[in-house]
Amino acid sequence: MTETANHPATSGGAGRVTDLDSLEFTNRWTAALPADPDTAVRPRQVSGAAFTRVSPTPVAAPRTIAWSPEVVELLGWDPALADTDDFAAVFAGNRMPDGADPHAQNYGGHQFGNWAGQLGDGRAITLGEVRDAHGGHQTLQLKGAGPTPYSRFADGRAVLRSSLREYLCSEAMHHLGIPTTRALSLVLTGDQVVRDMLYDGNPGPEPGAVVCRVSPSFTRFGTFQLPASRGELSLLRRLVDTTIALDFPHLTATADLGPDELITAWFDEVAQRTARLVVDWMRVGFVHGVLNTDNMSILGLTIDYGPYGWLEDFDPGWTPNTTDAQGRRYRYGAQPQIVHWNLLQLAQAVAPLMDDHSPLEASLNRFGEEYHRLYLEMVAERLGWADPDPAGDVGRIEALFGVLTSAEIDQVIFFRELARVPVDADANDDELLEPLADAWYDPASITGDVRDGLVGWLRSWGERVRSGGVVDHDERRRRMDAVNPRFVLRNYLAQEAIDAVEAGDTDLLGELHEVLRRPYDEQPGKERFAQKRPEWARTRVGCSMLSCSS
Ligand code: AMP
Ligand code: MG
Repeated sequence: MTETANHPATSGGAGRVTDLDSLEFTNRWTAALPADPDTAVRPRQVSGAAFTRVSPTPVAAPRTIAWSPEVVELLGWDPALADTDDFAAVFAGNRMPDGADPHAQNYGGHQFGNWAGQLGDGRAITLGEVRDAHGGHQTLQLKGAGPTPYSRFADGRAVLRSSLREYLCSEAMHHLGIPTTRALSLVLTGDQVVRDMLYDGNPGPEPGAVVCRVSPSFTRFGTFQLPASRGELSLLRRLVDTTIALDFPHLTATADLGPDELITAWFDEVAQRTARLVVDWMRVGFVHGVLNTDNMSILGLTIDYGPYGWLEDFDPGWTPNTTDAQGRRYRYGAQPQIVHWNLLQLAQAVAPLMDDHSPLEASLNRFGEEYHRLYLEMVAERLGWADPDPAGDVGRIEALFGVLTSAEIDQVIFFRELARVPVDADANDDELLEPLADAWYDPASITGDVRDGLVGWLRSWGERVRSGGVVDHDERRRRMDAVNPRFVLRNYLAQEAIDAVEAGDTDLLGELHEVLRRPYDEQPGKERFAQKRPEWARTRVGCSMLSCSS
């Protein structure tokens, strides 16, 4: 503790926190909800409680290998803090800062369509809620911090590869403008963790790590499902009331809604936020991989980065998750239907609190309409068409998807470079295709019908731009570049960073993080991070195939 302990210890004149014992913990969520009276860590069912107070299990030798300057800024902390041993100790779970209220959340969920009962934070331990630099609230959560009553048969730990993927991807998503939980830090624990990476009976030791995730709330759809499934209506009601009060305060600030109206307004907003989120995923080619209802944020944030992946060649049937290879439930193209199904589960969970739950059905129907409206708007913007033409654009977009699946075509490069394709009616075939050449995985396949199909579509695209789209070339390119990223966290890039860190080199991780902070900008000298998947990565585990092992 410093002598300024009554006030946040500050430096630099900006009121920045320089001492982790001076954080202003508010811990509103644990104060508002019933705690588990038992604090024993052994695996067990916890009823009638929203969380269990539990402490992280210390690790051998914490070492911070990455931290996010933007999250440090958001929290209002002095960046020099991140380089201290105390920072590594706190964000590995070895030391509790003053005012923390460490706990694990209780929730349930549907996994791959089946009700799984109680799940809970099996390896995430929340330190508490702090005030951020803008007067808001952020919850700090350590993932991989040791066992909790919700760990079931597992160890409560996380390996470096999955932690690095969560850390980098949540920051990349933020910079893409996509709602997400954030990552403050990536700390190596100095301990080994044993995992059977491919679930093929070959377990081996891997370096352990802890990510500190940051979000205004970690409440999930499954948070409401669990008490509903047990008939614990008073807990369910308190969870809904607390969520609305803490995370949706505007709903009660502006209008005096009756109880059913309030739940309807809240559910409606959750559905709308979720619709916008999925439209964003579809835009950049993000495939979550495990859209179980416990992995759905009540705030419409991307949460729980596991075996996610980025679409490379445009294949709506693709899933990165080998655990889902059979049914492909969570494939790219199914994400809108799946989150709609997840919203239906949330509606069913909260319905018992209402006299008349029919408005929730109306909300669920609106989700579909809203999703399609936003989706069409989004694709029209990506293609330089400005306002969508609902009559003709649906057909034009279907035709594009037909063309994109006629050969192996990198969708990130295709959309980015489309802004460089001429729209003049007199451009010849070669001029139309030339800017897109980097997108072909096998240039030899772009012949005959495939080539004719591409050229035909590009001509109809150009015509559509000329009649009602963004006609000015520079303006069109600027607008298209603002929604078609140059840099995404390609699966093989994450794996290269993992390989380097496992070999003791963190430079590539730092460079990749830096590049991903400006995904829509051309970054001369960084072209290698925009290249399509190299051949070696096609079948390499961790690049195109990931299991849930983490
Ligand atoms: P996920 O697939 O990450 O959404 O996790 C599903 C459930 O398993 C959640 O309740 C997690 O907390 C739990 N879980 C996943 N990995 C571990 C682990 N290594 N130790 C304890 N619990 C875990
Ligand atoms: Mg989860």
